[in-house]
Amino acid sequence: MENMLGPDTSSWEANPIGYFNMNSLKQNFGLVYGQPTGKQNGYQSPIMVTPTRTQLFTPPNEEDEPGPKAQAVSVSSSFFPGSHNAISDTIFRSSDGVLFYITSKVLLTCSKKIFQEFLGASIGEQRFRDVIIDIPESSAVLNIIIHTVYGISVARHSPSFEDVETAIYRMPAYGIAPKDLIVPTKPLYELLLSQSPLYHIKVYTLAGHFKLEDLAVKVSSHLLSYDLSELTDDLVKSMGATYLRRLMCLHCNLVETLKSIILQPPSPHPVTPDCDFLEQKKLSRAWALAASYLAWDSRPESDLSIHAIQSTFAELGDRLDCDECKRVLKERIKEVVVQWVNVKRTI
Ligand SMILES: [Zn+2]
Repeated sequence: MENMLGPDTSSWEANPIGYFNMNSLKQNFGLVYGQPTGKQNGYQSPIMVTPTRTQLFTPPNEEDEPGPKAQAVSVSSSFFPGSHNAISDTIFRSSDGVLFYITSKVLLTCSKKIFQEFLGASIGEQRFRDVIIDIPESSAVLNIIIHTVYGISVARHSPSFEDVETAIYRMPAYGIAPKDLIVPTKPLYELLLSQSPLYHIKVYTLAGHFKLEDLAVKVSSHLLSYDLSELTDDLVKSMGATYLRRLMCLHCNLVETLKSIILQPPSPHPVTPDCDFLEQKKLSRAWALAASYLAWDSRPESDLSIHAIQSTFAELGDRLDCDECKRVLKERIKEVVVQWVNVKRTI
């Protein structure tokens, strides 16, 4: 093992099977955040692990059977030596032991202070070259963070929403500003949008937390049927007062707008021998009943779809004998639908 890890020996040549014992690596490369443990001969040359098929997986399968394989060094399938047509000079290791070979220049392009607070110095410094830097995140989370910093989509790894959420909340700890990276057309923005229908309130909360205005507006259209009484203290605290107020206003305003649109019953038609003003009051009363049902007993969007409104009022026509009453009812329904379609449904 000593020989294998010597500076002049390629680890791949010394260990053709392609596996490394993690404990041996730790003993020989007891380097954390670029700091030697003291008993080493200064900084070691990098652990050049040639990725093999068995090593290439990200994130690692937690179901792997225990045994020799479980101790193999895992290398990210996206960030391995030579990936992205670049020579990597920085090695991150996730808490579950996956190595990510990255280029410090790319990190520094994202932010000059990236990982600076975490490392205690700029990642551009020579002492961080070719040593293993432990990052206290799972490989799934670290994978999302690095993809985002590189500006490439992590979608092909199908990350869980929980991991995406964790990655974003952890970014500031590494000097990464979500506000700069989660904007329209950027990969992480698109990924969050695609997850919005299922995780609407969580995406909205995250957007509020980091003041991601574009995302908050977009995801709010999925929150029309959200029951505000389900908001927890944690969600409210995290999204902040401004975005909570905007969400509540969205709900209140929508119902108020609907009320104002449907309040007016169909206009009476000129009196005919069969239908006088008194007779036409039946339609006005029926309309008022249907309107109050829609405006007071329903929740926006779920019960107030265009179809629901249309069919609720259209049913009134079934009980009308006068063709003129049927005509004014149809016209009024058309007006209501046009106005309702054009109502703004976002914060
Ligand atoms: Zn009539």
